[in-house]
Amino acid sequence: MYGYHGKILQVDLSTRQTKDIELKEEDLRKFIGGAGLSAKLLYPTMSKNLDPLGPENPLIFITGPFTGTAIPSTGRHTICAKSPLTGVWGESSAGGFFGVSLKSTGYDGVMVVGRSDKPVYLLIHDGIVEIKDASHLWGKGFYQTKDILTKEVGEKRARISAIGQGGENLIKYAAIMNDDGRAAGRCGLGAVMGAKKLKAIVTYGDRRPKVAYSDKLKENIKAALVVPITELSALSTLEMFKEFGSIGYLDMAMYISDVPAKYFSKSVFPVEEIDGKALKQNYYVKSVACYGCPIGCGRLTQYGQHGIDKVDGPEYESAAALGPCCMNLDLDSIIYASHLCNDYGIDTISTGVSIAFAMYLYEKGVLTKDKTGMEIKWGDSKAIVGLVEKIAKREGVGDILAEGVKRMAEKFGVSQDEAAHVKGLEIPMHDPRAFFGDAVDYATAPRGACHTKGDYYMVDIGRGVLDASVIPGDRFESSENKGAMVARYQNLRDLFNSLPLCTYSPIISPGHIAGLLNAVTRWDFNPDSIMMAGERSFNLKRVINIKLGITKKDDKLPKIATAPLSEGTSQGKEPDMETLMRGHYKERGWDVATGKPTKKKLEQLGLSEAIKDI
Ligand code: SF4
Repeated sequence: MYGYHGKILQVDLSTRQTKDIELKEEDLRKFIGGAGLSAKLLYPTMSKNLDPLGPENPLIFITGPFTGTAIPSTGRHTICAKSPLTGVWGESSAGGFFGVSLKSTGYDGVMVVGRSDKPVYLLIHDGIVEIKDASHLWGKGFYQTKDILTKEVGEKRARISAIGQGGENLIKYAAIMNDDGRAAGRCGLGAVMGAKKLKAIVTYGDRRPKVAYSDKLKENIKAALVVPITELSALSTLEMFKEFGSIGYLDMAMYISDVPAKYFSKSVFPVEEIDGKALKQNYYVKSVACYGCPIGCGRLTQYGQHGIDKVDGPEYESAAALGPCCMNLDLDSIIYASHLCNDYGIDTISTGVSIAFAMYLYEKGVLTKDKTGMEIKWGDSKAIVGLVEKIAKREGVGDILAEGVKRMAEKFGVSQDEAAHVKGLEIPMHDPRAFFGDAVDYATAPRGACHTKGDYYMVDIGRGVLDASVIPGDRFESSENKGAMVARYQNLRDLFNSLPLCTYSPIISPGHIAGLLNAVTRWDFNPDSIMMAGERSFNLKRVINIKLGITKKDDKLPKIATAPLSEGTSQGKEPDMETLMRGHYKERGWDVATGKPTKKKLEQLGLSEAIKDI
């Protein structure tokens, strides 16, 4: 088999038994790898009664056929499980080097089941797995854990994926961290790891699967990296990421009202105080790239306070969530709060949105100093840093914020229309009123409000995918056609956590992706069949969510994120969700009345076994 080892490792932490799970070539062809393959593997276990924090919830760390090849921006790995934050399909991916290291162990991934009675870490190398004591690491942050394990394992090639105190304390949006502050941040999978008493996974090895045609792969990479003239505006975005990191997008995002400032109630703020230029001029040390990536959107940032010399980041999402979303314009505190999130291992997006919601509730008088023990006012940078600490430690009001905005609204008796989430996942830092395509994506993406599955703002900025009939257009268009284009774009994007490819990769055409996959595996994909693989994976995740209780009524955005703004370039704009969603369901072959995939669609996708669950 080319491109794969054809097996994943299963570790049962309850019994301390391990076994190899052989992967069928038929499943690899249908689901490619990564998140798509995980959906196939986890589908039978997914039920309403499955407790996400119980021992029976399997947690998968997985790679794909592109991992560790010469294809740029493919050093990612994906982690999947039932999410403790949302109770539905959970999927999160991270960059760095851990994915390549995991694949070098001789396995395509590792599935962890059961629960250890004391803290442990896994050491996997060259086809060998050891379950080791992690009592000395429990209670430590990600960076200290990484340093201790690096010394303890004593192997230069070792890469570490670990939780901080956030995962240990079962914060509903705990992250799993690796390398230079790279985070599998979304969906709370760090809490699944913490519930299993699994502190870290350490991997290294030399066993990488062969590529079928390396010369052909080189030629295909060269061809795929030629950016067509139609994508020049997207190219300038990539150049900006190189120069300023992803936080470089903050200026443009403010101009086009893409930053949900003041908890989705504003879009205009003095961006120059906290943008990529300010970071570069006042704090910048160097750019940091994931394995084999020519872009290098990561940042190592000079900090020099609180006994910390340098920190990773902040990324755009972190800066916007802990900055303008909370009306915080103090870059110093944004950098520090983002670092604390990384070290504690909690998602910066959900953390920032939960703090901003607390500020919104404080202003409304729902929360008071008596109830919270502190003032929680807009833009109070000290309060923001303090709340990050309280959330990670579940102290005082932090214990409630640690549950995310959906449960906060329930707890405080506030309408869910004021809680910025979809299916329980906090809305990321792209305002759905700035790009109506994003509104449809948030409503329908398998994990809830997801900015990577259908980053439709990239399309309407200029990065169309012509061979998938995804054409850049009016960002405020509310048409059935726009809803349909989002569906096609999501099908393509669903492949990215399966191959894997970074969202920022310039390789986006289904034709190029099929050519690269064929060169790696000796298979015979074409643009249509590769798009169908993405559609299959997306639909299987939909059926999983239906099994978990999701219905059409959950494909909905809260009013706080759709009510027209009174300022900025999206002033007065509101997506017509009914029309957009009708076009989306029709394109998907889903029943417009129920939002369920039809029997015919599942049969067409080779998912007949899923018909019983719709
Ligand atoms: S663009 Fe950024 S996140 Fe993506 S692979 Fe490159 S360095 Fe990593």
